[in-house]
Amino acid sequence: MVYLFCGILSGAILVAICVPLFRKDDTLESTIIEETEWDLLQRKKDVVLGNIQDLDFEYKCGKLSEEDYQKIRGEMSAEAALVFQEIESIESSKDLDALIRREVSARKNKNKTASQTAVCPSCKAQNPLTNKFCADCGANLKH
Ligand SMILES: [Zn+2]
Repeated sequence: MVYLFCGILSGAILVAICVPLFRKDDTLESTIIEETEWDLLQRKKDVVLGNIQDLDFEYKCGKLSEEDYQKIRGEMSAEAALVFQEIESIESSKDLDALIRREVSARKNKNKTASQTAVCPSCKAQNPLTNKFCADCGANLKH
């Protein structure tokens, strides 16, 4: 009974140590994803606006016909509107955190089989989740 209590206690301490570590990882990962998405949209916006600026300039220099200018300008404006819409939807989204969490877990699921292990309650060896018994000591991993 004492040993069981000690086992639970050391397990609880282990969880208390590990949980903040995992949380820290999650925050870091979220930040990276958020910045990447954000950077991508900002870069896209810069490119599209730059293209429109160039087009306006070329039109003013007389390099483009009115017809071509209106056609390309319309296409570029539609593209810019899409990018602005995407940025706005991220900015205004109350589910931004949920979105980030979903992306993080989607990334994690890719190496789920490799990273998820069950710790043997008897010898603390790491076993694949699919194992029913510990590979080291043969203890039952299902409780
Ligand atoms: Zn074991």
